[in-house]
Amino acid sequence: MSGYPLVRNPLASESKRDARDMESRRKESRDMSAKGKDERLLQTIAEMMANGLQTQTEPFPETEKEFGAILAELRQLPPDDLNSKLVISGFVDHPYGPEQQRCLECMYYLVHRKWCDLPELSVPVEPHWWCRLWRI
Ligand code: SF4
Repeated sequence: MSGYPLVRNPLASESKRDARDMESRRKESRDMSAKGKDERLLQTIAEMMANGLQTQTEPFPETEKEFGAILAELRQLPPDDLNSKLVISGFVDHPYGPEQQRCLECMYYLVHRKWCDLPELSVPVEPHWWCRLWRI
């Protein structure tokens, strides 16, 4: 032991705390702006469908091969081609078919984020919407 008391530098710990606070505020602001973007995109998609966008709801892909063919088609699209993405995947803004399938029961739906997690779609969706890539 050196015999010297351990003296903390109050300014150093304060500046560390400031840095932590700033980082946390930055993260909060990033989260809020991402949330705002998702909400705007959700609104855009809702408006496109409300304005009568005709999408390809049929044929429903019964086999893995058919499912894969739709995914392959989606992968060819430029990332900002939202219109074609909705058309090819057969988006509708209501439950669909005799079983009234919905995004809510689809394996790709993230409930808390209201998000379709299928990488080829990756868009915000309402729980009562549907597309032909629906899976359970
Ligand atoms: S794959 Fe289609 S049905 Fe499933 S969550 Fe995404 S948009 Fe909804």
